[in-house]
Amino acid sequence: MKNASRYTYGPVASRRLGRSLGVDLVPSKTCDLNCIYCQLGPTARTTIERREYAPVEDVVEEVRRGLEEGPAPDYVTLGGSGEPTLHSRFGEVAAGIRRYSGVPIALLTGGALLHLDEVRAACEPLALVLPSLDAGDEETFRRVNRPHPGLTLERLVDGLAALRREFRGQMWVEVFLVEGVNSSDQQVVRIRECIERIRPHRVQLNTAVRPPAEVLVGAVPEERLEQIREMLGGRAEVIAPATGLELPAEGRARKERVLDMLRRRPCTVQDIAVGLGVHRNEAAKCLRVLLDEGAVRRRQRLYDTYYESSG
Ligand code: SF4
Repeated sequence: MKNASRYTYGPVASRRLGRSLGVDLVPSKTCDLNCIYCQLGPTARTTIERREYAPVEDVVEEVRRGLEEGPAPDYVTLGGSGEPTLHSRFGEVAAGIRRYSGVPIALLTGGALLHLDEVRAACEPLALVLPSLDAGDEETFRRVNRPHPGLTLERLVDGLAALRREFRGQMWVEVFLVEGVNSSDQQVVRIRECIERIRPHRVQLNTAVRPPAEVLVGAVPEERLEQIREMLGGRAEVIAPATGLELPAEGRARKERVLDMLRRRPCTVQDIAVGLGVHRNEAAKCLRVLLDEGAVRRRQRLYDTYYESSG
């Protein structure tokens, strides 16, 4: 019997990271931003208060158990239901995991707190930082990311540029494009100027492939994504939906683990199969039972059918 997961979920199939064991360091939707495309719903009140939202030792121990149970992930990822850098000791969580595991640790962050010296210093044990950059000017930053009043785009870009200079690991910047909001030529040129200051290893373009919380958030069509990729130059790539990952046909999808995943974000059958290391048919069977029970619902979106928790 699997121990209850309080701070970890998955492994889930991630389009950017392969198979990722997710770690939640803050309560759901504790965030300094309120992005219009957030899959988790609106941030009730943005915050920049950094504190130990989850006890370091408990998180480190739960990740150890998750890694022992398998399947082995490609990354342990600090992120999930809010902004992980709001956890005042996230660097100690990463260092604690590194003491017993060689699995690389990634940080999924909105990036707006990286202007703080202590936040950048805490990144030291990480292999990979994945910050967001969704705007090229202050007005668009306020429109897309709706930050805490104490944060600005200028500081965000300064913070990312400083981390890139100081950090020995990789930095992959994600640009989340919303049709008609930050996808114009003028906006892309400004985003490119910010990227030139930051000099990340990669720039990854994303759009609303998964159902966002706000229905008016539109996906940028594939051809336009391709044009934007060209405008942003050699480091940029469009993140493709997760297909073609190897599927180890082992084990059975467990309802609780599937629900755990769907409570955090909508997933396809393939996401669940890859995330849990089970055959696609097993994942589909489990979803059918959950659909019958009314615990999950189905939504069609762009490339695929997504399942989400009805709770
Ligand atoms: S930073 Fe992440 S968790 Fe916070 S609002 Fe934006 S998408 Fe949601």
